[in-house]
Amino acid sequence: MLPETDDSRYSRQMRFGPLGEDGQRRIGASRVALAGCGALGTAMADLLVRAGVGHLRIIDRDFVESSNLQRQVLFDEADAREGLPKAVAAARRLAQVNSDVVVEALVADVNPSNIDELFEGASLILDGTDNFETRFLMNDYAVREGRPWIYCAAVGSYGLKLPIVPGRTACLRCLYPEAPGGAQPTCETEGVLAPVTASIAALAVGDALKLLASGTVEARLTTVDVWSGEIRQIDPPARDAQCECCVRREFVHLSGARRAPISLCGRNAVQIHERSRPLDLADLARRLAPFATVRANEFALRAHIDPYELTVFPDGRAIIKGTTDPGVARSIYARFVGA
Ligand SMILES: [Zn+2]
Repeated sequence: MLPETDDSRYSRQMRFGPLGEDGQRRIGASRVALAGCGALGTAMADLLVRAGVGHLRIIDRDFVESSNLQRQVLFDEADAREGLPKAVAAARRLAQVNSDVVVEALVADVNPSNIDELFEGASLILDGTDNFETRFLMNDYAVREGRPWIYCAAVGSYGLKLPIVPGRTACLRCLYPEAPGGAQPTCETEGVLAPVTASIAALAVGDALKLLASGTVEARLTTVDVWSGEIRQIDPPARDAQCECCVRREFVHLSGARRAPISLCGRNAVQIHERSRPLDLADLARRLAPFATVRANEFALRAHIDPYELTVFPDGRAIIKGTTDPGVARSIYARFVGA
């Protein structure tokens, strides 16, 4: 039973007729998975937790830095000083916002070998990622499992969102059979404005609440440019009758056994995630101490090895800052962590 008092937590949301008490009940029973907890992800998580989703799983591979604070609304200066993983810092903050919501923090990189586990049980998947590789993987998974997901992206002053409901709407590969080729604009090269990530996050959560409450959504592609002021609504793109993913059901991204190390958005860095192996960070900190300035907590170890900064996670994953060359990154990993 929902509380009936006028000042109950969700009263203003339930008073909105199309959502109502039934919609609120469905939202409260929902399980949402959020991949990526940067600017889009923090804003979406905040709105979803305030709206009272039942369960939110936040998956992010990165840690908080001071350059995030301009737009990543759940983090503060203490999180950056501590070098907390974003998923953990977000879950801590959200627990203070709404203690009724179960928020689960997973410090992980979504890849073909763990995606089943990471998205298990989610009735809706939200895209807070910054790269096509992960989005294609999420699209394959969502289509195979018949789960809706919402594609979101933002860079500079421009962003877009598109809800994807397998079997009913175009999927991401109907729109882009292959990842766009060549150098793509990134938040590193083009920068990014907080108003655009906040706008796209708000539009995506509007779709999410409608989907969760009513089971339907207008599958419109919305683009926003907060600098030119242009906002466009594009009618649902048509499904591709030859789509390899949603028509032929060939899930090539899910079957990708190995992936190359990839550069991250927002910095001069390479991530190494070829191996998954448990590491004892305290032991590694002792071994690195003679060569580097080392800081470690239970979530991550960070070592300054001039001119690089190496961050290692307990699952063996590492981010090497100070280079965009995968070869250099691999070599540093091999020298200081072990091959
Ligand atoms: Zn398709």
